[in-house]
Parts: sequence; structure tokens; C-alpha cells
Amino acid sequence: MPPLASGAATRLKGVTTALYRRYRPDTFADVVGQEHVTEPLMQALRSDRVAHAYLFSGPRGCGKTTSARILARCLNCEKGPTDTPCGQCPSCVELARGGSGSVDVVEIDAASHNGVDDARDLRERAAFAPARDRYKIFILDEAHMVTTQGFNALLKLVEEPPPHVRFIFATTEPDKVIGTIRSRTHHYPFRLVPPGVLTGYLQRLCDAEGVTVASGVLPLVVRAGGGSVRDSLSVLDQLIAGSGPEGVTYERAISLLGFTDATLLDDAVAAVGGADGASLLPGVARGIGRGTEPAPLRG
Ligand SMILES: [Zn+2]
Repeated sequence: MPPLASGAATRLKGVTTALYRRYRPDTFADVVGQEHVTEPLMQALRSDRVAHAYLFSGPRGCGKTTSARILARCLNCEKGPTDTPCGQCPSCVELARGGSGSVDVVEIDAASHNGVDDARDLRERAAFAPARDRYKIFILDEAHMVTTQGFNALLKLVEEPPPHVRFIFATTEPDKVIGTIRSRTHHYPFRLVPPGVLTGYLQRLCDAEGVTVASGVLPLVVRAGGGSVRDSLSVLDQLIAGSGPEGVTYERAISLLGFTDATLLDDAVAAVGGADGASLLPGVARGIGRGTEPAPLRG
């Protein structure tokens, strides 16, 4: 993997932008742990076999919306469609991390724009040619929130869009996107990121940030984040914010995240292994005494 481009330059004095925003990928090559999606998408872009409509599904915080923006960036790059946006043209600059957004890429939060009127409004907007770029691209986030009537009002447009229109639906619940819409999309399922991949990514990010993190901390962060990149970065953000000059210590991490100290767990496992109830109970008591919930101790 190439070293991460440092996001530090965009950090303002006294203002901390969330890691998730600062390191948000703006090319497919930088998306973490979703190669089963990004590689075929890049191949489709290279061979100019791009669909009219896409459905990106999967757990929260795994890169669906980010990838939708990247796909839009690939499609509308002046030198594209391409699997690797040039990064220089007006569209690429506007759609880059920290950019202003492009007038030809419309992001719609379907959670709050889910009715028939919104669908009609979208239909009207789709009728207009792009203002500058190749395509008018509609990204519908939380697409499962669109009502059945809303979807029905969109059906014909998604089925036979004008040549300049592309749709990207993103959702955590693809089963709630009505079948007639779903069957007209290319469906790419995103997944939780495997712990090893996520740990490696967080380590590179800490290196880029110049933050020292004690051994054993990042696996805890990954565990707390449950395989979601966004949640893991949010946890790491908090640990870094509360760290002193010595960096993020293991002690600080376990107390903040509510995990049981590995040594404590080892004691408990050894006690169970040796069927030694007498020493297991004091171990549990020690855990509770430190304010550790019994449930994580068992898990
Ligand atoms: Zn470009």
C-alpha cells in the first residue's frame, strides 16, 4: 500500500477535523477493504461498461457514500470516464476531499426527501442536461427510506434514463428498495472490513498523523468499531484527543473503551481452563471493582 497522503495540511490551528473527514478517500485505490467492489467497478470504468444505475448496499460506515462520490468523480472527470480521476480538472477538484461539490452531482438524503413530490422534483431536475460535465449524477443516500410511491414515481426514469443521467443508490437495507428498482441496478454489496486490514490502515494513519499508539491499542479500536471504518476512526479520534505527550496508552484505551485488561482476561481463562472456580471469582470481582461491566469480561 502507498503511504497515506497526510491530511494534516487541512488542519486549522485549534480546530480538529474528524479523522474520517480528513482521510476520506477520493479515489477507489484508497478505499479500505472493499476490493470485491472497487476492483470490478474500476474494471467497468476502464472498459467503458458503466451502468445507468447502481445500488451500493452494506453496513454503515463502510464506504458506500464515499464510493458513490468517487464513482461520480470517475465518471465526470474531464479526462474520463476513468478508473482513476485526474485530480486536476474542475470536476475532480470540486469532488475531491474537502472540495465544494459539483453542480452536476446531486446528493439527496432520501431519509428526508422520500415522497412522491421529491421524486417528481428529481424527475424534473434529471430532464436538464448537465451544466458542465459529462453526466448529471444523482446519489440517493439512505435509499431504503424512499416510499413505495416515491420509488414508483422514479421507476420509469431509472428504467430508461436520459443518456446524460446516472443514479447511485446507497443503502444499509437493500431489501427495502423495491424489487423493480433493484433489478434495474448493478448491485454492489459492501462489507464490514476485516480486523487485520482495518488495523493496518489505522496504523498507517497514526504514522501519517505522527501519533504514537501503544501496542495492543489498535486491535481494541477495531473491535470497538465493529468493522466499520467510520466508527473505528471516531473511536481513534477520541483516544487521540485524550492522549498526552506519551501518545495513546493501553491503560487509557481499555479504561475508556470498557474492555477488560488482557491480563485480567488471561487470569479468567486460566481459571476456567483449570476449572478453578476459586480463582475465577476473584478475577471477576477485580474486573467489576474496576468498573468493568461483567458482560465484556465474559465476551
Ligand atoms: Zn479530472
